[in-house]
Amino acid sequence: MIPAHPSRNIAFFGGTFDPVHFGHLNVAKTLLELFHLDEFFFLPAFHAPHKPASKPTSGYHRFAMLSHATIGESRIGVSTLELDHAKSRYSFDTLTELISIYTNDRVVFVMGADSWQEIRTWHRWEEVLLLTDHIVVSRPGYPLTFDHVSEKLNDRIIDVRGENRRVQLSRTPGIYFTDAVLFDVSATKIRDDIRQDDVLDRKDDVPDVVAKYIEKYELYR
Ligand code: ATP
Repeated sequence: MIPAHPSRNIAFFGGTFDPVHFGHLNVAKTLLELFHLDEFFFLPAFHAPHKPASKPTSGYHRFAMLSHATIGESRIGVSTLELDHAKSRYSFDTLTELISIYTNDRVVFVMGADSWQEIRTWHRWEEVLLLTDHIVVSRPGYPLTFDHVSEKLNDRIIDVRGENRRVQLSRTPGIYFTDAVLFDVSATKIRDDIRQDDVLDRKDDVPDVVAKYIEKYELYR
């Protein structure tokens, strides 16, 4: 449900952020401007339920890296909602809770093209998509296709690829597709590089402060 006259448009970007990288940060900065969002929150997961095999780095470290990386950005924050629960949590429950907290605002959920591709593995995925607005962001190597979702959901898709100027959110909830961000970097690749070479040699992938944090706490060795 979207309030009839929302006071603010607030985006939440869920993920592991292990570590946060420029792909994630570019998504935040670009969507704030493109969709004229008031605030953008990273929402680190305690442990993604659809990735049971991989155990992430401590939430404290992931939170610290996110907060260092966003400290100078007044409209970008880090939500502790999922970490506070201290256990794996479904997006459906988190999103329902967010909507009940931000009753006067429009809650917008953000995901990358790889998450969109595997959306059917999410618990109550169709309801997740129907709960509120979603923005699906392109990512190199992951084509944006729609044939894995039902017609009802297809009707909600608003394809704004190619649009780099302001996009107005429609009055009814939508699933927006944008290619305004194209940055080829992944957290898995960053972790693998460090594990292999013992140093973070691709400094263009993460902000300096995150690189220093990784070094100081000897993460991903
Ligand atoms: P991993 O390689 O470990 O899966 P990741 O780089 O995909 O990590 P996540 O924390 O899993 O990072 O991703 C959080 C969200 O960010 C997901 O919705 C993912 O699709 C999106 N995302 C990650 N990297 C990019 C990127 N380069 N461009 C656009 N979206 C991205």
